Amino acid sequence: MKRKNKFAALTLTASLMLSGVVMMPADFSGPATAEAAKPGNPAAFDKKVTARIDERRIYEDVRRLSVDIGPRVAGTEEERVAAGMIRERLQSYGYEIDVQEFAIPDTMVGHLSTSGGEEVTVSIPSGSASTPPDGLTAPLYDAGLGYPEDFTEAAAGKIALIQRGEIGFRDKIDHAAAAGASAVLIYDNSEQSGPPNMSIGTDAPIPVAGIKKVSGEALLEDIAATGGSVTLKVDALSGRTSQNIIAKRTPKKGTNHEIVYVSAHFDSVPLAPGANDNASGTATALEIARVLKSYPIDKEVRFVFVGAEEIGLLGSEHYVSTLSGQELSRSLTNFNMDMVGTGWENATAIYLNTVDGLPNLSTESAMAAGERIGTPSELVLYKRGSSDHVSFHEAGIPAVNFIRREPGTAALEPYYHSPEDTIDHISIGRLKEAGDLVGSAVYSVIRSN
Ligand SMILES: [Zn+2]
Repeated sequence: MKRKNKFAALTLTASLMLSGVVMMPADFSGPATAEAAKPGNPAAFDKKVTARIDERRIYEDVRRLSVDIGPRVAGTEEERVAAGMIRERLQSYGYEIDVQEFAIPDTMVGHLSTSGGEEVTVSIPSGSASTPPDGLTAPLYDAGLGYPEDFTEAAAGKIALIQRGEIGFRDKIDHAAAAGASAVLIYDNSEQSGPPNMSIGTDAPIPVAGIKKVSGEALLEDIAATGGSVTLKVDALSGRTSQNIIAKRTPKKGTNHEIVYVSAHFDSVPLAPGANDNASGTATALEIARVLKSYPIDKEVRFVFVGAEEIGLLGSEHYVSTLSGQELSRSLTNFNMDMVGTGWENATAIYLNTVDGLPNLSTESAMAAGERIGTPSELVLYKRGSSDHVSFHEAGIPAVNFIRREPGTAALEPYYHSPEDTIDHISIGRLKEAGDLVGSAVYSVIRSN
């Protein structure tokens, strides 16, 4: 298959401009990666990785995380079980393990049922008020799009059912509260696989829940029109914690080695099995840890598995905040993987996202490794945050995130953050590609021979 390396051309141009030295493309022997200074044939060392990266193992771990465990929302038992699985595995590979537990903010959880006994799936935005512990039972009030004029006196004490669109969520909520509604249900205006994830700001005056378009329409027809009621329960989960699992290996000789980080988050958004986001990156990092567990190295390697990414990169932020000044000064680079296994046919490119859009040791070693091993997918250097590489970058550590996107548009798979992010949409071949590419790149930086 054909593979374009946009980055090689870009770097060549840049180095020509900077140095004024004329280089022929054939002389572009790759960047100043650590590997460039190392003896031996890099391709032979790649083989030590690619011959052993076993995509069936990766796929099996994606299945454990996304099917056996399922959605792994920060602070839940499922996230904790996933962390336990990762810790046990890394221990079995002989790594020194560190478990970090850290507090996360309260999150809201909810439950909605009709007087007819039907359950409706809801999403509760952070910032929603709570209901009494037994819930709030009231008739529904059809409040259209939630403009002030959509409310009459009849709204008082009822649960306002409002369609998404035209005005902001918070405006709808404030209008409902001003009319005396006891709570708000906002239903989507397009058909999605899950209820909407809404941003409503802080301290909403009444409880708020999001529901799917189909649920809203059914409630309008079956409940609002017939005078039935619904019961909404919204609770804050407080005092919760998430955790990071860190596996470390240091070279046999010497001390104070440079540190290379390989990271992935294992939590997911609510209702999403998180097969691609991010069981794929987690499982691939686990496999790289297995393959690299005993090869001689001249740098310290840390596999950093983080929780609570989906609620604001909290795990990785916590991790870098625990690094001492001495560790930070030894920190060389970070390879992060987030969403590397989608089978979505348009996602034919692996994007190498850096926060500043510039190449660094991680992107350069990955580009060089991809060139050597013949990674089939196009590799695209791109400026983008939105994953744990941001935390490393902000701590002053050069970092990259590997993620599958559609070339040109940079679109993500349509299953992103939805209940459809399932193992059915995972490509075993692309898991292998990610493992080979990132594994070879990491090894090229840390190997000692
Ligand atoms: Zn993710």
